Amino acid sequence: RAKEHGRSRTEVFTTALRDAILIRHRLQTDLTRAIEAREVFLLYQPIVRLTDGGLIGFEALVRWRHPELGLIGPDRFIPIAEETGQILPLGRFVLEEAVRSLKRWRAQSGLPITVNVNLSARQMWDAPYVEDMLTWLAETGVEGLKIEVTESMTMSDPDRALAILGRFHDLGIPLCMDDFGTGYSSLSYLGRFPFDVLKIDKSFVSDLAPDSGRARLVRGIVNLAHDLGLDVVGEGVETAEEQAILTGLGCDYAQGYLFARPLPVDDAGSWVRRAASSGTA
Ligand code: C2E
Ligand code: MG
Ligand code: MG
Ligand code: MG
Repeated sequence: RAKEHGRSRTEVFTTALRDAILIRHRLQTDLTRAIEAREVFLLYQPIVRLTDGGLIGFEALVRWRHPELGLIGPDRFIPIAEETGQILPLGRFVLEEAVRSLKRWRAQSGLPITVNVNLSARQMWDAPYVEDMLTWLAETGVEGLKIEVTESMTMSDPDRALAILGRFHDLGIPLCMDDFGTGYSSLSYLGRFPFDVLKIDKSFVSDLAPDSGRARLVRGIVNLAHDLGLDVVGEGVETAEEQAILTGLGCDYAQGYLFARPLPVDDAGSWVRRAASSGTA
């Protein structure tokens, strides 16, 4: 079939592979410059309380507006940045930018707004880098900052993860277990770690039906998390039905397109102002 179109299957494959490699190389060489050129920026997705819809804060999510390739999502460039080590300066930029927004929103609104920042594996395992981060955070103040790490990061070296996460926890920074359910850990095992928040992965939330096996599973996760003293956030909530079911299962907070997409900083600021004037946060 491929021959009929003038190129063999191997040729098509090779071309696709070469393009992928070229783009990869391109992203890799451009990323360092991109941070300085301010092509890399943050969006902020609201996290709301399920009981009354009140805003509690945001998750900071990075984007790259590439001059030729257009808007690029983190799933495409974070893995590359992880491999090359560029995640270290990139992560530092994300942290500083997110803390800047957080401080501004708190000062402007008087509300206890929170901002979650995602930490990648390479950042977490780099001891001197973590020390630098902790020093900077201690000097800058951490009121309202939360750190998200994934279950798989934690489980790849639990003893080391425990030591490092403990340092953030000691500084008063709440820790969120991100994408819960996509790894292989048991909730009771997670009780060893100083997590404050559990984020249920969107794969458990999407198409959640009442009285389904999945709903029972989510109820179990929520109950166990609460027993361990964790707050629970449902990720990827897209429909009113998913919202209603999560609320019924006792989930505390939610994040998803139903409430808002990840927003430019000024639109997130409008959410904060609205929360302040309605007194919902
Ligand atoms: P994550 O931390 O689990 O972030 C949630 C992802 O789900 C975001 O994708 C968000 O846009 C998306 N999302 C939110 N609500 C919905 C919904 O209702 N439906 C659907 N289908 N998706 C929803 P995004 O922004 O593309 O980020 C993807 C991943 O990239 C993040 O997953 C996180 O692991 C990573 N990431 C993003 N920003 C950063 C960063 O600054 N540093 C690091 N290390 N990783 C980041
Ligand atoms: Mg996250
Ligand atoms: Mg997540
Ligand atoms: Mg994710």
